[in-house]
Amino acid sequence: MTVTNESDDPQVPIVCTECETTSRVPLADVADAVDRHNEQLHDGDEVAAVDPDVADQIADLVATELGLLEE
Ligand SMILES: [Zn+2]
Repeated sequence: MTVTNESDDPQVPIVCTECETTSRVPLADVADAVDRHNEQLHDGDEVAAVDPDVADQIADLVATELGLLEE
């Protein structure tokens, strides 16, 4: 595992209401982390998810990144 640019790699909180846990993962790993958690701990049920409070901000982040890439 390599961590090269954690400062500009946004960390996204994943919340699991059933486990009562919050874990932060890099934006690029969010989908995998959610899938892995739900598969390993909840038989594939979609229990864990991105914190709804930041889901909007993530959408903005992604939009911004896409905008920057287009430039
Ligand atoms: Zn869980």
